[in-house]
Amino acid sequence: MTTEADAAHRERTRKHKAVVDAKIAAAQRDRGLLLVLTGNGKGKSSSAFGMVARTLGYGRKAAVFQFIKGAENVGERAFFSSHPDVIWEKCGEGFTWETQDRTRDIAAARAGWEKAKAALSNPAISLVVLDELTYLVTYRYLGLDEIMPAIEARPEMQHVVITGRAADEALIAAADTVSAIRDVKHAFRDGVRAQEGIDR
Ligand code: ATP
Ligand code: MG
Repeated sequence: MTTEADAAHRERTRKHKAVVDAKIAAAQRDRGLLLVLTGNGKGKSSSAFGMVARTLGYGRKAAVFQFIKGAENVGERAFFSSHPDVIWEKCGEGFTWETQDRTRDIAAARAGWEKAKAALSNPAISLVVLDELTYLVTYRYLGLDEIMPAIEARPEMQHVVITGRAADEALIAAADTVSAIRDVKHAFRDGVRAQEGIDR
């Protein structure tokens, strides 16, 4: 009985491996990718920072532009911003409902976008993270008609990661890889405040 089950399992895994191997063999091209990490669940920005770590591991350069956010995300900034191969720009003054100053928010967002555009035209930078960029579109601080041309004209091998909830359909259509992270549970709703190393 066991030997029969073992043989069936071996055959299944052999077939599965053949399918996976064929897919790997078929995917041999290299090019810069546009990734969009959206959805209401936790894990968008932290995933982007994981890709920053991977990039640095190959001795490559990364640039991170943090739009909107104010005092949060202190852990990754403390770790990455002093790294010689990282450009780290905090472009936002905080959430709109905290600052309650739309004019100042727009000015900060636009100034950040100008710096991000410089990174998007620099082939020495392998990865550009546009963290919380989707909110600039949602709040109409910046139009996709300005964002998309800069992304499309970037160096061929440069990767771009955009994070934020409610990514625009046009952004999703233009992206190569899109993940919508679903909110299943979050400790915050159980009364736990943002934990260092996990949430910030
Ligand atoms: P992270 O930076 O942890 O990957 P994120 O980028 O997916 O989170 P944001 O909307 O940018 O999510 O919010 C960042 C902060 O808000 C983090 O402290 C995160 O834990 C928290 N957060 C994210 N999603 C939720 C949620 N669904 N409910 C409550 N808090 C959340
Ligand atoms: Mg985030």
